[in-house]
Amino acid sequence: MTQRVALIGNPLKRRHSAVMHNAAFAAHGIDASFELRPIDPEDLAPFFAEARGGDWLGFGVTSPYKQAAMEHLDEIEAGATAIGAVNNGVRRDDGSLVGFNTDASGFMAAVAATGLSLAGHPAVVVGAGGAARAVVWALLDGGVERVLVANRTPERAREVAEHLSSYGNIEPAPLESRALATALGSAAIAVNATTMGMTTDTVPFDVAALPETALVFDLVFVPPETPLVRAAAARGLAVCNGLEMLVRQGEVAFERWTGIGSTADIMRGALESWIPGSDTER
Ligand code: NAP
Repeated sequence: MTQRVALIGNPLKRRHSAVMHNAAFAAHGIDASFELRPIDPEDLAPFFAEARGGDWLGFGVTSPYKQAAMEHLDEIEAGATAIGAVNNGVRRDDGSLVGFNTDASGFMAAVAATGLSLAGHPAVVVGAGGAARAVVWALLDGGVERVLVANRTPERAREVAEHLSSYGNIEPAPLESRALATALGSAAIAVNATTMGMTTDTVPFDVAALPETALVFDLVFVPPETPLVRAAAARGLAVCNGLEMLVRQGEVAFERWTGIGSTADIMRGALESWIPGSDTER
């Protein structure tokens, strides 16, 4: 019996997850397939009923269902509850479904792979959407001293700060602000959690303002080399791109579905040798 995993979302423009997970299934000789399942909101309940079947390993969730999926699950792990979103889940042997958030753990795994220790140091996150929430929570959970969250719509930065205030010290700020410029000056890590670099050619913050020991982390993975990644590399800063986070969060999910870890190299290799078939996939 072929086992199954599906990613639900709408629209589902990118095949990256299918490429890397199917490569890992094949490399480990597991008879399983990862499919993309674009669904409408009314299909959520039927989907999660189906995913309780014995041939299912688990599921992935992307926009716009990372919050809505939560009410269809039997258990939600602490990190996902704190963030307020699930992006992956596993089916237990009894058919129950457990949701968790690998954006947070994948982000921290990618940071850890750089060798940088963030505990006790300040951080900057630009963006206030779902990905920013996962990153802010992960940074605080990882022991950073404080996080400045800057966003084009300042109200959304304030909402993130309020939502996660019990986990640590968060200061909200507008994108064009003295507070952001000051925070960049002492940041151990500066993260782009906006779509800038994917939907625009702009950079979310000035890399010249960062200390020379700072890590610049861009969550955007289409394209993997954004104007921010180029600017940070040109300044000689340590850089992590969104493909590395995608791979690391995929590795965490794959291990939950199969019990097999250390698949990052297989997944990265599959993505590097894959030629996307359309402009939307690039
Ligand atoms: P989202 O909820 O839609 O949030 C988008 C964010 O981008 C908001 O903060 C928004 O600001 C900001 N933004 C959009 N256009 C902007 C512009 N022109 N100038 C300034 N700010 C702008 O999206 P999300 O789900 O958090 O995802 C954010 C990014 O992370 C996406 O690029 C996504 O692909 C990436 N991501 C990567 C991974 C990975 O594994 N690598 C995982 C998750 C997400 P406003 O609030 O002002 O609209």
